[in-house]
Amino acid sequence: MRNIRQAYASQKCAAKKRGIEFLLSFEEWYHIWQVSGKWDERGRGSEKYCMARHNDIGPYSINNVSIITNHENLSLGNKDRWKGKVVSNETKDKLKQARKLQVNVGYDKTIYTCVHCNKQVRSKSNLVQHTRASHA
Ligand SMILES: [Zn+2]
Repeated sequence: MRNIRQAYASQKCAAKKRGIEFLLSFEEWYHIWQVSGKWDERGRGSEKYCMARHNDIGPYSINNVSIITNHENLSLGNKDRWKGKVVSNETKDKLKQARKLQVNVGYDKTIYTCVHCNKQVRSKSNLVQHTRASHA
């Protein structure tokens, strides 16, 4: 547990410095990470996960964030790309998944079991991601 509150405080502080409202309580913030199943993959590399705002607009709040990879966050943060000229189907799929993940926060506590390898995952979108990644 030792670094979790620090991680929260530092994200909150970074948002403040960038002039972005940060409306998540520690509990909400941590819950979103827990439900995403990506806490252990949180970090700085492009394949690591971060908490991003939808369209990079508005506050960090429970209805406005998703856990996505830094790579996706950079692509989505680029406004020209975001405006739809170069958004690939793959990116759209990932976006859809990211949105599903967000929608599931706080509602979907079901454990899903992969029919291929019996791995257990926490949400339907994680199951979809797992199936695509491991059994496509
Ligand atoms: Zn599997």
